[in-house]
Amino acid sequence: MATEPNLQLKSHEFNCSPSNVMHIDLNSCFASIEQQANPTLRGIPTVVAAYPTGGGCVLAASIEAKKLGIKTGWRVRDAQKVCPQVAVLIPDPAKYRHVHKEMMKIFEAYCGNVTPKSIDEAVLTFGKPERRAWFAANVEGEPSVFGLTEDSLSESQTMPELGNIGKQIKKDIKEKIGEWLTVSIGIGPNRFMAKTAAGLQKPDGLEEINFMNVDRIFSGLKVEDLCGINVALKSRLNAAGIYSALEFLNANRYTLNAVFRSISSYHWYMRLRGFEVDNWSTERKSIGHSYALPKATNDERELGKILFRLCEKVGLRLRNNNLEAQGVYLFCSYKGRTCFHKSHKLHQKIFTTPEIYQQGLRILSESLKMVNSIGTLAVGVFDLSQSLYQQQTFFEDQDKKRHLAQTLDKINNKYGNFSVSFGTTFGLSKKILDRIAFGGIRDM
Ligand SMILES: [Mg+2]
Repeated sequence: MATEPNLQLKSHEFNCSPSNVMHIDLNSCFASIEQQANPTLRGIPTVVAAYPTGGGCVLAASIEAKKLGIKTGWRVRDAQKVCPQVAVLIPDPAKYRHVHKEMMKIFEAYCGNVTPKSIDEAVLTFGKPERRAWFAANVEGEPSVFGLTEDSLSESQTMPELGNIGKQIKKDIKEKIGEWLTVSIGIGPNRFMAKTAAGLQKPDGLEEINFMNVDRIFSGLKVEDLCGINVALKSRLNAAGIYSALEFLNANRYTLNAVFRSISSYHWYMRLRGFEVDNWSTERKSIGHSYALPKATNDERELGKILFRLCEKVGLRLRNNNLEAQGVYLFCSYKGRTCFHKSHKLHQKIFTTPEIYQQGLRILSESLKMVNSIGTLAVGVFDLSQSLYQQQTFFEDQDKKRHLAQTLDKINNKYGNFSVSFGTTFGLSKKILDRIAFGGIRDM
């Protein structure tokens, strides 16, 4: 669908405060770090893969490999078909952790409010984030109070020039960590705009999205180019006649309500207008998902596969929120209205899907001791705390698990739930997968 300049968006509907958020993303993280460590790899298409064999999953492709079309999530053998001389390495978490820590030191020298988002991404918030978040969260339905406030006016006098800070950070990374490393930096009035801006130019970008240029930039983006829009959401937006990011921005609340059918419509409305709705530090008590089976069963194999899918969704939300859990619960209701509920407290914190699944499966096998067939299955995690992945762990295993989980999540966040998954659920019907995948969207 053709996009037109946005003539409808008035300044009072957009957050016109000076941009105060910076999103920084290390380009081709694992691969660039390997090239930094080994200069003979520089200029050569390089991938870091879970395994070096043909079936290994590519976790990171170097800038040279990306230019040839090689992507994260590919099999090694497919990368080798495109480029037979591609260098294939296995992950070396100690190196990546070192670079992560050094980058954080640089960021913290410029900003007192740094939030690491993953091993290769961080958000720097300048100014008064708490007040902004409160403001954004309390203006629902009141467009007249959007935009400049007394607060933001006084902030504008003290807001540093983020573009210059961005340039300095790039320089520091090259001088203090390694000359082969580049970052894409995005600047905006909220986290969403900053992340979107960081994705505009890769590698080595430095872009800002603000009230002055949002129309122009959004007219060149499709909805699926926006962070948080996966395949399922894209098709729902398309069905409502929304194809470009600009059409999404111009959609009114009624249209968005019809698409999202939840509080997400409000969050998107605000997010697209540059207001902060994504920095809430969660006080969430648990994360869970349930599935009502079309036909009750006590087939352990089938239930196990469904359980795994539910655990994948729980795990993805857990990690997307930078959380870890120290408990797992399982609930099922049987034919005949009886139900079973049990929870396990754990000695250690968990965050990967297989860990959640392992605990869930233990409880599921107890629940199957009941004679009746299971009609609804639910699994969840509790005792949540902020993830400590940025801290040094002493177990190499933990690092490997973390990197693998994060990379799979990135692929699934981008291409839709279950684009890549574990073998456990092979054979589960497409219908069940779709029904489980199409769940809440509050954690996009
Ligand atoms: Mg990156």
